[in-house]
Amino acid sequence: LEPHYQFMVRLRIPGGRLTKQQWIEIDRLSRIYSSNGIRITTRQTIQFHGVGKQCLQPLLISLEKIGIDTLAACGDDNRGIVCGVNPDASRVAQQVYDLARETSSRLLPKTDAYRETWYDTPPSASQSEEPLYGETYLPRKFKIGFVIPPDNDIDIFAQDVGFIAVIEKSRLVGFNVCVGGGMGQLDSREDSYPRLSTPIGFIEASDAPFIAEVIMTIQRDYGDRKDRHRARFKYTLDRIGLDSFKNLLVNRFGKKLAPLKPYRLTNNGDKLGWHQTEDSQWLATLHIQSGRINHHLQDQLQAFFQQYSGEIRLTANQNIQLINIPPYDIYDVARRLSDLGLYERLIPSSQEAVTLSCVALPTCGLAMAEAERITPDFLALFNDLKRQYDLQTKPITLRITGCPNGCARPYLAEIALTGRAPGLYNLYLGGSHRGDRLATLHEKNLSQTQVLDALAPLFDLYSTDRLNNEYFGDFLHRCHFIKSSSISNQSIQE
Ligand code: SF4
Repeated sequence: LEPHYQFMVRLRIPGGRLTKQQWIEIDRLSRIYSSNGIRITTRQTIQFHGVGKQCLQPLLISLEKIGIDTLAACGDDNRGIVCGVNPDASRVAQQVYDLARETSSRLLPKTDAYRETWYDTPPSASQSEEPLYGETYLPRKFKIGFVIPPDNDIDIFAQDVGFIAVIEKSRLVGFNVCVGGGMGQLDSREDSYPRLSTPIGFIEASDAPFIAEVIMTIQRDYGDRKDRHRARFKYTLDRIGLDSFKNLLVNRFGKKLAPLKPYRLTNNGDKLGWHQTEDSQWLATLHIQSGRINHHLQDQLQAFFQQYSGEIRLTANQNIQLINIPPYDIYDVARRLSDLGLYERLIPSSQEAVTLSCVALPTCGLAMAEAERITPDFLALFNDLKRQYDLQTKPITLRITGCPNGCARPYLAEIALTGRAPGLYNLYLGGSHRGDRLATLHEKNLSQTQVLDALAPLFDLYSTDRLNNEYFGDFLHRCHFIKSSSISNQSIQE
């Protein structure tokens, strides 16, 4: 008798875009195959949790029928590409989104192994060799993202390769390219650290898919294949040096990158409430705490999407955006959201809206402490503390993870807790609400109560000494409350 193996199944949804038919089918399949439900991840996709081994193939075959697969959504390859852009927002947004999808397709493994394994297609003689990844694939996972400033809702500086769109006179002229971002670290190793990506130059828009491939293949060829932790691209970059990397890049890319163009990022959260796009369509973002779709919410969403005529976009802040809603439909959409008890999700508290947490216990095998499950209670205590200092209207980016790996991008938050052991967290402070500065370690091994005790005197000073509209992370830096020097990409902003 075989043990009852269970799997997490992560979908490949580049850019996070889904049709309502796809959502309805994902919902249906999760009720059949996923014993622990589904959640929206911080990379704009959906994970099925608790899928039995025997259920894997029927699930993947059913997903293929709605145009969704899991190819390269995990593993040592280019993971699903994130794109902080609603393609329906404007012509430029559509261009950026199309380039993100083109990049995703270009970097997919090309052999038929996936189809042969899961869909039982006959072995293919023509496509048995993997042209891009070779026999050994990449040393580790690789992540790519696209943004249009001023929004930074995918945390562009956390990506291995980030493309910041440059728009002049309503025209996409190209991208600033950033390399070597990454959040994961191990507390037990000094040579392990989160890193902000480094902006290295400007390219024409149509070059984005090719340069992404070139950078990924440099990592394929130069990444550390002996020490798995040090195999991420950020370490390769620091090991070979930025200048050597740029030389390799110019050789393989065939030309030099142009100097960086100015840009300005203003926030790394989602836009809440209703917004109108250039072509007069509407969008609205439903807040989903920690991306968790519990049974009740799943029923509400199922009922809503059955009569919804727009489309869906998952965000990298784990929310659901309703997009492409025609003007004549918004009152009907609002009424249905209200009838189903979903309307309040359009207007969460400002603090809820900037709080993220990873799945952690009991689902993630690497978790050392709770994250998603303690978030509601911790948030209540955190809000009480803010109220004591009259800060209830000041959103402070808060991120909680069950281990230092950083799946909820904690090292970019103004306040972050990363799990160390059951009930104990390292406290990081001083990231920014723009996602352009690393937080630094403030204190180790604190209980939730000790975290709040450590924050109280800082909130006290913030309540009295902050400048007009000054964010908490910026205040900590201006007043030198951050213990060590931290790294920021602010200096290259316009
Ligand atoms: Fe990621 Fe660690 Fe959270 Fe698991 S516990 S989801 S590895 S951050």
